[in-house]
Amino acid sequence: TLPTPANNTKGRLLIVGATGLIGCYLAEASIDSGHPTYILVRPGSGFSPCKANTIKFLQEKGAIVIRGLVNDKELMEKILKEHKIEIVISAVGGESILDQLALVEAMKAVGTIKRFLPSEFGHDVDRANPVEPGLRMYQEKRRIRRMIEEYKLPYTYICCNSIASWPYYDNNHPSEVVPPLDQFQIYGDGSVKAYFVAGSDIGKFTMKAVDDVRTLNMSIHFRPACNFYNMNELASLWESKIGRTLPRITVSEDDLLGAAAENVIPQSVVASFTHDIFIKGCQIDFLIDGPNEAEVSTLYPDESFRTLDECFDEFVVKIKKTVDNEGIKAPNAMVEPIAITATCG
Ligand code: NDP
Repeated sequence: TLPTPANNTKGRLLIVGATGLIGCYLAEASIDSGHPTYILVRPGSGFSPCKANTIKFLQEKGAIVIRGLVNDKELMEKILKEHKIEIVISAVGGESILDQLALVEAMKAVGTIKRFLPSEFGHDVDRANPVEPGLRMYQEKRRIRRMIEEYKLPYTYICCNSIASWPYYDNNHPSEVVPPLDQFQIYGDGSVKAYFVAGSDIGKFTMKAVDDVRTLNMSIHFRPACNFYNMNELASLWESKIGRTLPRITVSEDDLLGAAAENVIPQSVVASFTHDIFIKGCQIDFLIDGPNEAEVSTLYPDESFRTLDECFDEFVVKIKKTVDNEGIKAPNAMVEPIAITATCG
């Protein structure tokens, strides 16, 4: 049954960016958690079959579609009031961070928002300092944070670290691509560790935080101990799944800095984050001990994370399906990464 305000005590929740990679996971988790879920969809989004499928999938699960642009302040005010929205989660993409300025103004004007989660879903942007052009995105995310705090909007910042997948340095949606089948590109000496979180867990734990008074005006960090890997370990895990070893090529710090300096958007942004994670160690060079921050496994000790091991198993299944569907002989005959469309399911 569709969630309705009448039979549901959970707040009405608006998701911006539900047709995107992270937003789709959030929308799905919001519906599953019983919040009446509204999704703001850009007019025109849905022309592509992939986006149309995502919208249909979420609508069939119970999402209510509202058409509009998040950077239209008057419209956002109208939507927030008319639909009595209490919680807003934004997952606009990295190139649209400042589109949220109008949304923040609209939330301030209506004055009824109980929680806002801006588009973060990565690192702690007040701590990490990637090289350009990644830095520019962080500066924009910081600007949104400062505005939220100045307007005293109730907020939670989700710092979920890396999405579970092979961390290609030139692909901002690496979880849509299977890990390599020809060779591994290992960043530096491959020893710097990072945290990997399945998209469905980004959704699940974000929704737990939304409904939790303990996370009000806090940064919530995702550090699942079961998913703490360096590049060398990641490569060995994948080798154990595909049953063979692959050559390991070093991508040096200078290579990553060179790719970042090319300033090709979005690839160079990803290169700068890759440098920050796997050379500088930006996910692990601090303790979570401030008064306004908490770690998600500490908050929810009884909840388990999907392991990277399971996620890699799923990639193997997807490769097999693709091979069967397309008549390709065997996975080890392929040299190109296979693009897997995120189903968000
Ligand atoms: P996507 O580019 O996949 O999707 C962006 C979404 O925002 C789309 O639904 C898009 O709509 C929508 N959107 C953009 N501008 C507007 C607007 N003006 N009005 C309404 N909707 C708009 O984003 P990602 O999922 O890649 O990124 C979301 C967040 O997650 C970012 O902060 C990013 O930095 C972070 N991220 C973190 C990752 C990690 O590994 N931790 C990986 C990837 C992203 P439309 O469909 O019409 O384009």
